[in-house]
Amino acid sequence: MSKLQPARGTRDIYGEEARNMAAVVETFQKVAATYGFEPFNIPIFEFTEVFKRPLGDASDIVSKEMYTFEDRGGEELTLRPEFTAGICRAFISEGLQQSLPCRLIAHGPAFRYERPQKGRYRQFHQIDAELLGQENPEADVDIIAMAWRILSELRLADKIVLELNTLGDQESRAAYRAALVTYFEGHKESLSEDSLRRLESNPLRILDSKDEGDKRIVAGAPLMSDCLNGASSAFFAKVKEGLDAIGIPYKHNERLVRGMDYYTHTAFEFVTTQLGAQGTVLAGGRYDGLIQKLGGPAVAGVGWAGGIERLAMLAETGKVPARAVVIMPMGEEAVLEAHKIAEDIRAAGIVVTADRSGNLKKRLNRANKNNASFAIIIGDDELSSGTATVKSLDDGEQTQVPFAELAAAVAGKK
Ligand code: ATP
Ligand code: MG
Repeated sequence: MSKLQPARGTRDIYGEEARNMAAVVETFQKVAATYGFEPFNIPIFEFTEVFKRPLGDASDIVSKEMYTFEDRGGEELTLRPEFTAGICRAFISEGLQQSLPCRLIAHGPAFRYERPQKGRYRQFHQIDAELLGQENPEADVDIIAMAWRILSELRLADKIVLELNTLGDQESRAAYRAALVTYFEGHKESLSEDSLRRLESNPLRILDSKDEGDKRIVAGAPLMSDCLNGASSAFFAKVKEGLDAIGIPYKHNERLVRGMDYYTHTAFEFVTTQLGAQGTVLAGGRYDGLIQKLGGPAVAGVGWAGGIERLAMLAETGKVPARAVVIMPMGEEAVLEAHKIAEDIRAAGIVVTADRSGNLKKRLNRANKNNASFAIIIGDDELSSGTATVKSLDDGEQTQVPFAELAAAVAGKK
């Protein structure tokens, strides 16, 4: 192991990828604001219990993916593997029940001990949205619509399908669980070892198995829709009706389950075929029991998380840095004047960098190489006349511009 490499599953992110990721976050924040969502920042680590309790011991995350450690004070802590549990913990800690409904967004790194591959890392980044305190199916429609709008703004609408399912309420889910156990018990001899374990702890997860043998058995398993009670069916119908009303296409995927224990009713994933095995770019659902499970009041919740790396890879926003104006003071006195001028131009929202070394020819070469738009040259003559030489780096044209008019002279250049 070379100590100068980033640790396995972590990466240095820069250049085009970093710009694309920033563009994803920017679009997310801009769109979420139009739905009335507000930024909500939570710690990167929490007491381990915060994740263990709601996610459940049988979930992949808790059973094998968490970065858990004891700190110097002997506290059991875990780097957040996702945002929902932490946000619900914060909702309780901060006593936000008076502020319901809460529309909250967060983004940043999350950590899972997984086998690294394209689109799957140990430190990755998520955008996250949570809507707390709304039990009605219309809230599910709102939060899915928000995700859809973000994906559309990233021009991903035709690369992605929305897969939708319902896990029903507690009663329906228990009935389904029982039906699955009966069915899988009958196929015990052909189930994979992992799935045999899930049969006890979390039989719904068998539906999600990647094992080929399991998949054949799963194909004949009972369907959730056969176990839904009236209230759960009605809830799901409302969600679909809402999506239809605003024209969001979806596919009902009866086999869609989510990895965490806390989901009820609506579960959804936005999936693409363009990222190989890592096809889910954004996923979420309803989690009405979670806050109670953490020891808080009975408050409903629905939300989602998207993987920023996967979204950025797919969106290829092609965002390039704005072209800079390069200011070139020739001589000591000009340096101070250049500082002032640069500040004035930046105040107009224009990118300005300074190049203070080498002869003029060298500086112009560097500016051209860096795709700058203009050079502003300030030498002794310019200082005494109060005008700068402005050189367009596209056509080489040169003009004399009074200091006060420089921002206007270089504005609007793409
Ligand atoms: P997967 O099935 O790919 O493991 P998941 O169901 O574990 O995904 P969620 O917990 O729903 O994922 O997280 C939401 C999103 O975060 C995923 O859809 C994905 O885009 C992203 N994501 C999850 N784990 C990783 C990871 N290890 N590396 C990069 N992105 C990830
Ligand atoms: Mg996973």
